[in-house]
Amino acid sequence: MNAATASFATAPQQVTAAPKEIRLRRARRTLELTWPDGLHSEVSCLALRKACACSNCQLAQQRGALTLIDAEVGIDRLELSGVSGLQLYFSDGHFRGLYPWGYLRDISERLA
Ligand SMILES: [Zn+2]
Repeated sequence: MNAATASFATAPQQVTAAPKEIRLRRARRTLELTWPDGLHSEVSCLALRKACACSNCQLAQQRGALTLIDAEVGIDRLELSGVSGLQLYFSDGHFRGLYPWGYLRDISERLA
């Protein structure tokens, strides 16, 4: 019997290194990230909130439901989610989204 090779349509999961530095700038409502390769990015809390990929937000997006997000949304607290990413606690009470390093890196590059 031949060995089957599974092929996936999705991009290979690359392991993204954690940022060297993460700074929550509450007054500016941004998250500052410095990556090991020198990329420095400052992403607004609003952009991060919009990018939430939790099941609720994804479902809303699939349904085309309008999600109202306060433009003044901030981040109250961040926590490391294991060694692979961050969990962000937004000021609007939303905290279900996990942000793996690879995803944060994507967001950083898009907004850089
Ligand atoms: Zn969400």
